[in-house]
Amino acid sequence: MTELRARLAEIADLDDVASLLAWDQQTMMPAGGAQARAEQRATLGRITHERLACDDLARLLAELEPYEQGLEAGCDEASLLRVTRRDHERARRVPSDLHTAMALAAASAIPVWVEARARSDFALLRPHLERQLELRRRYVDCFEDFSEPYDVLLADFEDGLDTAAARSALEALRRGLEPLLGELRERAGAVADDCLRGHFPIDGQRRLSKRVLGQLGFDAGSWRLDQTVHPFAANPAEGDVRITTRYDERDLASALFSAIHEFGHGLYDAHIPHAYRRSPLGRIGASMSLHESQSRLWENFVGRSPEFWQWATPVLRDALGPAAPRADAETLYRAVNKVSPSLIRVEADEVTYNLHVILRFELEQELLAGTLAVAELPEAWNARMRSDLGVDVPDDARGVLQDVHWASGAFGYFPTYALGNLVAAQLWKRLHAQLPDIGAQIADGDFAPLRAWLGENLHRHGRRQTLRETLARLTGSSALDPEPYLRYLRTKLGDVYGL
Ligand code: ZN
Repeated sequence: MTELRARLAEIADLDDVASLLAWDQQTMMPAGGAQARAEQRATLGRITHERLACDDLARLLAELEPYEQGLEAGCDEASLLRVTRRDHERARRVPSDLHTAMALAAASAIPVWVEARARSDFALLRPHLERQLELRRRYVDCFEDFSEPYDVLLADFEDGLDTAAARSALEALRRGLEPLLGELRERAGAVADDCLRGHFPIDGQRRLSKRVLGQLGFDAGSWRLDQTVHPFAANPAEGDVRITTRYDERDLASALFSAIHEFGHGLYDAHIPHAYRRSPLGRIGASMSLHESQSRLWENFVGRSPEFWQWATPVLRDALGPAAPRADAETLYRAVNKVSPSLIRVEADEVTYNLHVILRFELEQELLAGTLAVAELPEAWNARMRSDLGVDVPDDARGVLQDVHWASGAFGYFPTYALGNLVAAQLWKRLHAQLPDIGAQIADGDFAPLRAWLGENLHRHGRRQTLRETLARLTGSSALDPEPYLRYLRTKLGDVYGL
């Protein structure tokens, strides 16, 4: 085990350095460094992949098999061997050349996406997306034992979940959301969000984000908050959590909610036990639905609750000074829960957010299958926005070019966003039963009990259990159940809209 651990520690270090390079590229690096950075990231990715797929690791894992059989199932060592074997076997199927080509294609497409989005010019990005898909199909061909090709891509973001299971959960979710959205459309005038529009200087917004984050658990000694084009969180080392947001002077909510969302990701990372650091047991991104459940839980279950606004309203007034809206806590709470179909996924309300995700999930399956050509993607996107959300897309920047995922090769990622919502509600139901005073604590600005519950019940387990095993442990069933999420939305929006 000692030799195995030493090798795995090096692989984890390489992954962490890669995450630092990616963070730098998206926050600090001047645009001129893009090509060189793409090569650096591809080189690092190749070395990491070779170490993970190498014969020495295969030999070590084979030698450890008898030892593994004697271990108690689910103990740390057994879990370490199980996840290492999985990562190794998946890496071994993919030739190093293909792996490098995918990394290089992704790193060079990202700056092109930034420019294409700024100029609303899909044609710029189109050849890069075609290349990404061609590489993804070759990647799928490296695997056997799957029911549909999309399973292979999904498995990179959600260990142990196939497309059929994701599809059935998301279809049940859509069936539950449609009647609710219909009712809310009829009462569209019942909630106003004018108080969130106006002119809010960025300095004040940054002060607000920092004060809110500070209370939630952002520790200036080991966290950073920076600005970026597409908000994300990174954790390049123990004691080093980096979250990002983006500011819009005309919109009070967007930067704050992005910051709270990324805080949820960052806290999960910050709570990885020291013993799992420098090991694949610390690689919690193996279940992006669990990771996303944490960001959505803080953003929505906490940040869009009435109790949160009881606490946050005076904080907001203080941080923004004369630029603060005159609205009271109740008005702000209602405003941040307004449901209104719109163009941008990351700014969408809690109901239509899921429709944005389902649209992407379905389009990317068609792209992978080749039933939809990249050239036809903007038109297909716009048609779905009209039929699913009733929204007309004015330009590709606010349509198909809004997200970085496809440019970066992350096909198979999107469903985990909506699945994360379902998981957040399943966890919230459980934690609410165990922390009955959670509402009063949030109203007091006391987030320590919530942090502790999440740390104890989820975060400290690292990657020891899959999504389904985690659900079974915490909720008694391994099923992805949309009902708690639908019930949560009906209760809250019933209150906000007087349904
Ligand atoms: Zn997220």
